[in-house]
Amino acid sequence: MLEVKSFQFNPFGVNTYVLWDESLSGILIDSGNSTNEENQRLLSFIENKGIKIEGLYLTHLHIDHILGAHFLSRHFGVPVRAHRAGNFLFDKANEYAQSLGFSHDKNPDNVEYIDENHRIAFGNIIGQVLYTPGHVDGSLCFYFDSAAVLFSGDVLFRQGVGRTDLETGDYHILENSIRQKLFRLPDDTMVFPGHGPSTSIRFEKRYNPFFSE
Ligand SMILES: [Zn+2]
Repeated sequence: MLEVKSFQFNPFGVNTYVLWDESLSGILIDSGNSTNEENQRLLSFIENKGIKIEGLYLTHLHIDHILGAHFLSRHFGVPVRAHRAGNFLFDKANEYAQSLGFSHDKNPDNVEYIDENHRIAFGNIIGQVLYTPGHVDGSLCFYFDSAAVLFSGDVLFRQGVGRTDLETGDYHILENSIRQKLFRLPDDTMVFPGHGPSTSIRFEKRYNPFFSE
């Protein structure tokens, strides 16, 4: 059975998720951890549970989601998996970090690029990659149908959607990603976004002000 723990890290409150199952194999989704204290909080949880982390998946490469990526991939000796279309953000990471007052030493050095053909697999869990641009190029959502759980990054929030005023953001593309990819998932699907509380596809179809009629 899929288990999920979320941490809120850095001043932007990025949800950093630990996923694991009864075999204690696990993965991480996003990496907002940006201080020693945040690193320790995350590592203590993982160590206390005895979870073996097998990979770090990034929903997209905006600076607030990648601050801890280098640290985590080094610490666990695992690849960082992301979509190639967001790559330009690695090149700008230091510039963005400075303008927001973060320290960002390094980008991860073992990135594996994935797209919708990639199958997420750890323990007894299988997950699917959805390509959902519009917030920024390279935005991915991760869907686990056996658990009816979606990780929606900054594409869909509880009663909100990702901002589209940053580089490569486009509201029509975002709306299309949500309608064509996310709103076709079962209504019961639990949604864990990149920021803020969890929700469900049913709730967002009904109450998200961008979509409810
Ligand atoms: Zn973002």
